[in-house]
Amino acid sequence: MDKKIGFIGCGKMAQAMIGGLIDSNLIERNNIIVSAKSNETLLKVKALYEIQTLQNNVELATKVDYLFLAVKPDLYPTIIDEIKDSISNHTVIITIAAGITLEGVEKSFGKEVKIIRTMPNTPSLVREGMSALCHNKIVTDSELNEVMAIFNSFGKCEIVNENLMDAIPAVSGSSPAYVYLMIEALADGAVLQGIPRKQAYNLAAQAVLGAAKMVLETELHPGELKDQVCTPGGATIEAIAELEKQGFRSSIIAAMERCTTKSSALG
Ligand code: NAD
Repeated sequence: MDKKIGFIGCGKMAQAMIGGLIDSNLIERNNIIVSAKSNETLLKVKALYEIQTLQNNVELATKVDYLFLAVKPDLYPTIIDEIKDSISNHTVIITIAAGITLEGVEKSFGKEVKIIRTMPNTPSLVREGMSALCHNKIVTDSELNEVMAIFNSFGKCEIVNENLMDAIPAVSGSSPAYVYLMIEALADGAVLQGIPRKQAYNLAAQAVLGAAKMVLETELHPGELKDQVCTPGGATIEAIAELEKQGFRSSIIAAMERCTTKSSALG
């Protein structure tokens, strides 16, 4: 793709997307530019990814076609205020922050701006990201297709209605954290039985990866896949019965409700 992509903010999420994007070869390294507050971060990012860096958000904003605002939600008003007079009317702004609405960004710019609101996740670094996108009316089909190509280069993406965006962090933006918790717990349970720690992480993580692939590739209902593992009177159904007793599924659903409430309050 012959477009320039900029990132204001270069923390965990921006670096995950940049790492995946570079790996995919969709775009040349010298077409990716980042700016951040800390020079230390910029030096690290330059050495790691061999991309252009700037310590000036305004200069960056004037140079790119697609501009990711990869800072924390509370910094959005400050950053937008800083760059609003410098962006051209063909620049597409890409937000990645929970709770930041299209209308809120439009108001902060105080003029008509092309905006794509997204919610990515950190597995983008290994090109297994999952992102949701929505956009305002003035984004063209070809711009949307290019942005989807960017997101697809480091994983998968879905277009959703904006009224569902606050629910996305709970299911895919934040959920890697709960899955890591589960992998850690699986490994601890294995270590308790005497399995060496490193093997325990490999066994647990590969089982989670395999189960996720089974859902995506067989397209069978997760309940049917679960049934296939549970021999009547066997060991797996013993584990399932205990998980149900401990509220495994309801605790995940309750956690997601809290995540959604918090996400919508962040903007
Ligand atoms: P982070 O703290 O790792 O990174 C924030 C970056 O912003 C840092 O590089 C910092 O130097 C930079 N920054 C701060 N002030 C700045 C300024 N004035 N000008 C330019 N850069 C500045 O945070 P993160 O986890 O990467 O999150 C960034 C955004 O991504 C947030 O809005 C978050 O909601 C969203 N997000 C994060 C994840 C995740 O898993 N981490 C997932 C989805 C969405």
